[in-house]
Amino acid sequence: MEFTEMPASKPILFDAEKCTGCNSCVEICQVDVFIPNPDKGAPPVVLFPGECWYCGSCVVVCPVKGAITLRHPLMNQVHWVEKSHLAT
Ligand code: SF4
Ligand code: SF4
Repeated sequence: MEFTEMPASKPILFDAEKCTGCNSCVEICQVDVFIPNPDKGAPPVVLFPGECWYCGSCVVVCPVKGAITLRHPLMNQVHWVEKSHLAT
């Protein structure tokens, strides 16, 4: 899986080879980011990526590990480093 676009424009990525199209993620999303795919068994269609609030429910509910990936915006990907680990 390649991450070539900015997370904010594509907060949700599906792995079409793993996704079974069960639509559990569609049903649990409270802001209707995606809809069921008209092609049965295919990953849902992301309609409103800008509505995603990164709650992670869709990833938690998915029964297939790796079928759906949530990408947080870059500004939310800050990693805190303990002061003791910094060079002095
Ligand atoms: S992270 Fe939350 S808001 Fe975003 S698509 Fe998944 S369920 Fe919906
Ligand atoms: S819950 Fe997982 S397997 Fe089901 S449609 Fe969503 S990504 Fe695919």
